[in-house]
Amino acid sequence: MLSRWLKGDQNYMHPTTYNAKAYSAASATSSLASTKINRRDPTDRDVQIEILFCGICHSDLHSVRNEWSEFMATTYPIVPGHEIVGRVTKIGSAVSKYKPGDIAAVGCMVDSDGTCPQCKVGLEQFCPNMILTYNSPDKHLGGVTYGGYSESIVVDERFVLRVPSKLDLAGAAPLLCAGITTYSPMHHWGVTKGKKVGVVGLGGLGHMAVKFGHALGAHVVVFTTSPGKKEDALRLGADEVVVSRNADEMKKHAGSFDFILDAVSADHDINAYINLLGVDGNLTLVGAPAKPLAVPAFGLIMGRHSLSGSAIGGVAETQEMLDFCGKHNITADVEVIPIQKVNEAYQRLLKSDVKYRFSIDMASLKSE
Ligand code: NAP
Ligand code: ZN
Repeated sequence: MLSRWLKGDQNYMHPTTYNAKAYSAASATSSLASTKINRRDPTDRDVQIEILFCGICHSDLHSVRNEWSEFMATTYPIVPGHEIVGRVTKIGSAVSKYKPGDIAAVGCMVDSDGTCPQCKVGLEQFCPNMILTYNSPDKHLGGVTYGGYSESIVVDERFVLRVPSKLDLAGAAPLLCAGITTYSPMHHWGVTKGKKVGVVGLGGLGHMAVKFGHALGAHVVVFTTSPGKKEDALRLGADEVVVSRNADEMKKHAGSFDFILDAVSADHDINAYINLLGVDGNLTLVGAPAKPLAVPAFGLIMGRHSLSGSAIGGVAETQEMLDFCGKHNITADVEVIPIQKVNEAYQRLLKSDVKYRFSIDMASLKSE
């Protein structure tokens, strides 16, 4: 269907719509506030989901404030939210995998062309026609897609996921972004028993990386700027914790890591971490600070170090991650908040003050 729309198929019928309550920001400097948005009525392959919980990702904050304007400028109004768990309320006539009443989830993507080389190997996140859950062109209604800070969402069943039944739903929502974004590079770079793994930044992504690293049997070292998070890091599964502002503590780990995952949301010195890699060690960036990071050539040359990035994960890999979480009983540590506290939550994210993911209880939207 995406290809018909992209090719400007004149026979493509725009679906009928309904109103849904949501929270949106009107500009880069506005707070999020209550609003109503249009959602399409489910077409043949669509699943309509009543949203129960939606996590707050730092990417929501970067996007609301248009901090990534050079790479993906924000179109206003924006309805953020891509860590969505809810209950299926309606399905289209061709939907086969879900039925009303099922618990279902949606992450950062809602469509891709399904035909490109990346889609064919399950890397939909790198499809040139991938559609993000919010702030991407909406092929059905025009304008841009609207995310999960809303009472419901309508998504092609190819991009709907199953949540293992034993997982707590408030804690499962963040798996859809923070979970897959840390699980995917850890698998790609072979994190396993016997490997020494660093996690930089103990926020939403970082705390999931600690849980996965621990579950995969690696020796996990957390690097934090917040000394107050030390005990939590150990409880979450870290074997060691380093306060990164302490140069002596950092020095002790020089040249020793197989893999480091950097999940920091703001400008920082990545060379300090490149220096901690062993020969052939890799540092993967998942954090996406707005400002470019400085990389000294010799940090990479000596020790054949590599520096790479990673974006979420494909649909099948996201389901694999959810099933892994079901098996190992892994969810995010969440602070459940009503939607009315979302602006306060953003302020706290900026102060690295979240333990360790905000999950919005969408029932709170009913009173708006
Ligand atoms: P978060 O919960 O706000 O956590 C970020 C953590 O970074 C903070 O808790 C803090 O940890 C550390 N930090 C913050 N400012 C710092 C500074 N100035 N210097 C050093 N450390 C600092 O954010 P998140 O939701 O986990 O997201 C992290 C980043 O990943 C964001 O940039 C987000 O956009 C990006 N992201 C990327 C993908 C992807 O696909 N690649 C997906 C989702 C999110 P300590 O207190 O422990 O130091
Ligand atoms: Zn995210």
